Amino acid sequence: LAARVDFIDNKDELSKLSLVFNEMMDRLEESFHHQNQFVEDASHELRTPISIIEGHLNLLIRWGKEDPSVLNESLKASLDELARLKKLIQDLLLSSQTEPLQIETDIERVDPADVIIKIVDDFSVIHPEMIFEVETRYLSGIWLAISVGHLKQILMIVIDNAIKYSGDEKTIRITGKLVTENTVQLQIIDSGLGISNEHIAHVFDRFYRVEKARSRKIGGSGLGLAIAKRLVDNYQGSIRLESVEHEGTVVTVVLPRSFA
Ligand code: ADP
Repeated sequence: LAARVDFIDNKDELSKLSLVFNEMMDRLEESFHHQNQFVEDASHELRTPISIIEGHLNLLIRWGKEDPSVLNESLKASLDELARLKKLIQDLLLSSQTEPLQIETDIERVDPADVIIKIVDDFSVIHPEMIFEVETRYLSGIWLAISVGHLKQILMIVIDNAIKYSGDEKTIRITGKLVTENTVQLQIIDSGLGISNEHIAHVFDRFYRVEKARSRKIGGSGLGLAIAKRLVDNYQGSIRLESVEHEGTVVTVVLPRSFA
């Protein structure tokens, strides 16, 4: 809260108290509203895979014994949906907690160039159509004090978005460099669909997706960037997104090499 009232001995103090009190109520109300919205959005997201699994179970009961192809397909589809559900629950948990992540025990000396190259190799296998231009030579000899799992997660979210929203432009640039003695900057640059100005401010909000229809077709829950921001914030770093619609997007992640 902006103001504190220590004790009251006159009318002035009393009006100060009412101001503080009202501000407190406003914040509580806002926080309840966010909480309710989160539960509503989360339930909505969970309902889709559950309904799909329900549909397949009904198919199995009806046709599964006689028709081996229904048996195979429905079991496979249900397993796929279960995997999606599991990932969604992990993402929901990660994006709903507000207390600091337990990171002290996981901190390692991490070579960011190495992590970038490994992730790009993995994505290249899944998306052979994409062209990755990786510029990590300015990171040579540079290391970060970070949980390698967290760094991977941040990069995977942003690179996955660059791929999902690449449109017909298949080239993605990933660069890294030292910006101050103690900070590393990583940039993920695509020339894809881009985001219009009105939406840019909201992309780090939980469940926010530009153009629901377009995003639904592409997949994703709108939690990725909220999670990336939470992870980056946890290391006292920063993440920002600049974008021009129909031209492309630049995501910049700045991380301290060692943190307080
Ligand atoms: P999602 O799971 O929907 O991708 P994110 O939180 O990762 O959720 O991103 C929020 C929204 O921001 C996306 O739905 C998409 O509309 C937009 N977005 C994110 N990254 C990009 C990008 N590189 N290019 C265009 N749009 C993007």
